[in-house]
Amino acid sequence: MESHRFEADVRQILHLVTHSLYSDREIFLRELLSNASDALDRGRFEGLQRDDLRTVDHAAGIRVTVDEEAGTLTLSDDGIGMTTDQVIEHLGTIARSGTKAFAELLKERGENPDGLIGQFGVGFYSAFMVADKVEVDTLSALPGTEAVRWISDGGEAYEMGPGSRSSRGTDVILHLRDDAKEFLDVDRLRTIVSRHSDYVPWPIEVGGERANQETALWNRSPGDVSDEDYKAFYKHISHDWQDPLTWIHFRLEGTVQANAVLFIPRHRPFEMDRLDFKVGLRLYQKRVKILDSATDLLPRFLRFAVGVVDSTDVQLNMSREMLQQTPAVRAIQKQITKRLIAQLGDMSREKPDDYTIFWKEFGHILKEGVAEDERNKDSIGELLRYPTTTSDGALRSFIDVKKDLPEGQDAIWYLTSVDKERIDRSPVLEAFKKRKVEVLLMSDPVDEWVVMHLGDIDGTSLKSVMSGELPAQDEQEEDPIAEGFKKQAAPLAEWMKTLLGQEVAEVRISSRLTRSPSVLVDGEGGIGSNMERILKAANQQVPDSKRVLEINPEHPMVRPLARLNDSGATGLEPFARLLLDHAAIAEGRLADPEGFADRLQALMEKAASGMGGEGAPAPTA
Ligand code: ADP
Ligand code: MG
Repeated sequence: MESHRFEADVRQILHLVTHSLYSDREIFLRELLSNASDALDRGRFEGLQRDDLRTVDHAAGIRVTVDEEAGTLTLSDDGIGMTTDQVIEHLGTIARSGTKAFAELLKERGENPDGLIGQFGVGFYSAFMVADKVEVDTLSALPGTEAVRWISDGGEAYEMGPGSRSSRGTDVILHLRDDAKEFLDVDRLRTIVSRHSDYVPWPIEVGGERANQETALWNRSPGDVSDEDYKAFYKHISHDWQDPLTWIHFRLEGTVQANAVLFIPRHRPFEMDRLDFKVGLRLYQKRVKILDSATDLLPRFLRFAVGVVDSTDVQLNMSREMLQQTPAVRAIQKQITKRLIAQLGDMSREKPDDYTIFWKEFGHILKEGVAEDERNKDSIGELLRYPTTTSDGALRSFIDVKKDLPEGQDAIWYLTSVDKERIDRSPVLEAFKKRKVEVLLMSDPVDEWVVMHLGDIDGTSLKSVMSGELPAQDEQEEDPIAEGFKKQAAPLAEWMKTLLGQEVAEVRISSRLTRSPSVLVDGEGGIGSNMERILKAANQQVPDSKRVLEINPEHPMVRPLARLNDSGATGLEPFARLLLDHAAIAEGRLADPEGFADRLQALMEKAASGMGGEGAPAPTA
């Protein structure tokens, strides 16, 4: 035998697995049976591609046996087996990106956060939850290979040497821990198999008797499948420990034949944000698994869906690239898309609380669909949810907002800003808030594309509060005093325009401010400042476009300035510039901090000398 050290990530996982207490450790059996089932799938699939593989002379399946005296539990399968190199790679390193992501999470958060590992299926390594020694004896189906034995106590290292299997497949022998002898009880094992692995599409014998029904769940008629079956099946294929939020099960007949079961998880998997994330949709042809991750069957914006598609219209020997070109695959993708969107719509109406969970976990991914899928963009648009200025944190749809539009308002207003924390406090919202006009608050970068592609909601246009203005109030609110201030401020705006011509496209009198003296908004046309910011953050070339500075004619900082300007006073430049600084600071983007510091200092000196009784009336000095 030869000794090998586990990869660091594996050692960490193993340490946790062997040192923590679990409430639900019986799932080790599900993990090992799932591996055996995968190996059988692969053995069958490869056997159809080439004819030089080792075959099995009996009905292929999985056998679970116990040896009470030795205290061992053995799982034996007739799958594809492993070569020496494969054993080293598959059992000595972490292959699955989910487990890898989990290991990274552990590293970040320290040991066993929230007892998570007890619930998380760590695949093969979960054997060490119940065993203090694990042996693997395997013979690959590949011709010319030899049986290999792998032994480990779950510590730092494992041993390898010649194995003794004479037919293809794998034995996993668990030397049960003293506190895990309950798994020598055959009845107990049968119960666990029927609870977690009933739908494994290969016969599982426990103590010489069949313990599962071995039906391909997706080929059964939905009326014959219980909710519990769906949930167990979901856990089997997803390695999730929680129930799914919802699922669909349908059959396609006609030009394309397929059975499909798709689930929406309750939470985002750890690996979802990783670059090597693979979708959890499996493709079968007449119960033979072709792909574990059939990327082309799902549009990107639904990549969180998990499930199985079984179609007679795909070829067994199809490569990923060929798959993409296949009309059947495109037709199936179209149906999946349509049905998942419809299912999400149903969930939003019938189970709003579940929908909120879905939205928080996957909403930002679903949003991509508005830009990606021209055909379905409107139905996807209906699924989107946002907080608004009047919703007090509750999420609202475009339809909700449209339904509640007051008489006479012909647009749905929104504000996009990637500044999630401050979006609700933006000065551009002041007048909207005062008049209680509902404004959607959109703080995901992708929201820029959402509004661009939606354009309108069923004929009602979407308008940005950053570039559009609230229509003037009706007569009743015409206020002669306010009109007076506006008139007085007009020449000030004119003069500021010449002064600040380098920095801004325009200076105008604002009708959107109540508390703030000034604000920067976007001119009509152009891509908008938020989009500009997003593109720049993504290292894209964008021409600098100038903003519009609006000043509040009624503000106590602007009024005297307008008066002084009217009377021909000089020395007003620093004050005018401070109005621009103020607007930039309010959005957290001051372009010229040094200049601002100088101006502020000059102003404070003047104010201080004023307070010191030297009598200089501040701004004109
Ligand atoms: P996963 O099943 O998600 O890939 P596991 O940790 O459960 O991750 O298993 C790691 C790998 O070990 C599998 O991908 C497979 O290549 C190999 N393996 C485990 N059990 C078996 C088995 N019974 N037969 C063949 N290969 C196996
Ligand atoms: Mg596995």
